[in-house]
Amino acid sequence: MLARKPKVRNWIRALSELLPGALADRNLSAYTTFRIGGPAAAMVSPRTPEEVADVLGVASSEGVVVLVLGLGSNVLLDDQGYHGIVLRPDSELGGLRQDESRPGEWIVGAGFPIPLLARRTAGAGWEGVQRLVGVPGVVGGGVAMNAGAHGQDFSQVVLSVDLVSRSGELKRVESWELDWRYRETRLDGAVVTGVRLKLESADSDALKEEVRKLFRWRRAGTPFDQPCCGSVFKNPDAAEMSGSSRTAGQLIDEAGLKGFRVGAAQVSGKHANYIVNLGRATSGDVKSVMSEVRSRVFKSFGIELHPEVKVIGPDGSIGL
Ligand SMILES: Cc1cc2nc3c(=O)[nH]c(=O)nc-3n(C[C@H](O)[C@H](O)[C@H](O)COP(=O)(O)OP(=O)(O)OC[C@H]3O[C@@H](n4cnc5c(N)ncnc54)[C@H](O)[C@@H]3O)c2cc1C
Repeated sequence: MLARKPKVRNWIRALSELLPGALADRNLSAYTTFRIGGPAAAMVSPRTPEEVADVLGVASSEGVVVLVLGLGSNVLLDDQGYHGIVLRPDSELGGLRQDESRPGEWIVGAGFPIPLLARRTAGAGWEGVQRLVGVPGVVGGGVAMNAGAHGQDFSQVVLSVDLVSRSGELKRVESWELDWRYRETRLDGAVVTGVRLKLESADSDALKEEVRKLFRWRRAGTPFDQPCCGSVFKNPDAAEMSGSSRTAGQLIDEAGLKGFRVGAAQVSGKHANYIVNLGRATSGDVKSVMSEVRSRVFKSFGIELHPEVKVIGPDGSIGL
């Protein structure tokens, strides 16, 4: 007897009609820097804010969850994959240009790579994001995470954000209207499509030298060449640590966890707040390492570590 072909779900058909490039069963491990993740029921790459709104419209009318993915450099996806729509803004939503009528203002698309943003603006003599050269995501993900490094982060330079709200409305939101936090911005399910930044004029040679130095420092001090998601835990704030200011990496190191391994997931020997995928790590391996790290740091120092990486379940749930 012939095996029955699974029914193509209605909403996948509706998506394919809207965006001809919609893909079914794409393996998500290829779309994260951890190289971990199973199949996505559907993946789409809208090229305009209107197409983003169309996708969100299908999702809401069909009751399907949506995961917005940039470079996938701060997510831990599940081996079971994602049962809804993975929305990855296309590179056409990723330009960079200076607003000639407003000195220092730059307009950047959500899909533009953050390291390139740091280099281009520094090269043109504008300061404000040059220290983000080692943050490997794209600008949409950078805004959603309020990504930062060496004292700079997106909240300091964003003037306004163009987004598509969860209900499909195209909006421009001023920076002060957003709830910026440490490595987090409350977007309520909206999709960032672009931003306007305000940078300050500075000496381009000095900025380029700073970029070079910080990039070298990154390469030497972090497992940059291994599959990972950057810092796994947020740095605890000073209040939680009774005024002392050790980073999450220092706490994990002092708890003796460098090299700690479950399956193919290991606390990096180079930087203790990184977990690296040694080859075929599963999401379960990484979660087990994370749980052990949290419990050993708590036992040693009484400090609760909170994940910076977004741990995303197949049903859209977020958290360990
Ligand atoms: C080697 C390495 C070093 C790193 N160093 C740093 C660092 O120094 N500082 C730092 O802050 N981070 C660092 N990170 C983490 C990561 O690069 C940043 O958090 C980055 O901003 C994530 O961008 P992304 O495009 O990869 O987002 P993703 O990982 O794809 O997504 C992250 C979150 O943002 C949401 N999101 C993505 N795009 C959009 C959008 N367009 N609209 C709405 N929501 C969106 C996702 O749904 C998810 O919740 C590092 C990561 C790696 C692998």
